[in-house]
Amino acid sequence: MTTALKAPPLGPILDDIVRSHRPQREAGSVPANIPFLGAVPFDRFGIAVATASGEVFSSGDAEVPFSIQSISKVFTLAMALQGDRSGSLWSRVLREPSGTSFNSLVQLEVEHGIPRNPFINAGALVVTDHLMKETPDAATRLLRFLATQAASTGAYIDEAAAAGELAGSSRNLALAHFLKDFGNLQQTAESVVENYVRQCSIMMTCVELARAGLFLARNGQGTHGTVVSASEAKRIGSIMLTCGMYDAAGEFAYRVGLPGKSGVGGGILVIVPGVCAICVWSPRLDAKGNSLAGTAALADLSDLTGWSVF
Ligand code: GLU
Repeated sequence: MTTALKAPPLGPILDDIVRSHRPQREAGSVPANIPFLGAVPFDRFGIAVATASGEVFSSGDAEVPFSIQSISKVFTLAMALQGDRSGSLWSRVLREPSGTSFNSLVQLEVEHGIPRNPFINAGALVVTDHLMKETPDAATRLLRFLATQAASTGAYIDEAAAAGELAGSSRNLALAHFLKDFGNLQQTAESVVENYVRQCSIMMTCVELARAGLFLARNGQGTHGTVVSASEAKRIGSIMLTCGMYDAAGEFAYRVGLPGKSGVGGGILVIVPGVCAICVWSPRLDAKGNSLAGTAALADLSDLTGWSVF
């Protein structure tokens, strides 16, 4: 069950959340393989809520662009499902939590090149390969999709950040080569990884991401009509709940009680079905790769508003 917006109004609640959760001293980590992310000041904190009725509330650094990283995987999955009437994607990737880290090689080898879900890196590489069949530059297609849904032209690919990450992408290349070896990749490993890294390097603000994710809270209805069917929106939300927070999905469900997808840029996109989409961003990460301050803030927000799928 979800509940409607509650008094006190959301604006002051978000201001309070920012006051309580903006990091005062450096704690947590940044990903070692993406040099660009280490340069982001530790005390950045922003939050935005886009409601199903069309309002947007925000506070803190909600208008500062950040690297969306794996939050992109929610949107590439939605794009892949849009054109996949035959369900062929689901013969190439499963829908089970992995219980291993997002870039683990071991499970992919043991399970013969079929990734556990579309939100770990191996699964996202399969989704990118699937998109590239129709659109070789899937990253630019994703950018257009995000601009349309966010009703904003602010999003851009940080090509320098992408090049920096690509230079340290041995592990993603290894995953792609495993997939290729098992016959689960049609394009070259190099082209898929390059495209995937460019998707991850898209820069957006909390406000833009909350708006872009709103179709998932509105039965698949986006800014300009149907993005995915109501069933697909429900299914994407289910995969977010079970697989969206790396191998901390259980802990996040326990603390927040909502479907979410995080990225190692420190962003988390959360869906409150029928009510709103929320994006929080703070760049330092816990040991599982999720935003430290962002997760704590969402746990508070869910308690304060009563928003939960349980
Ligand atoms: N570009 C990152 C990687 O592939 C994304 C990781 C993430 O945000 O989970 O390592």
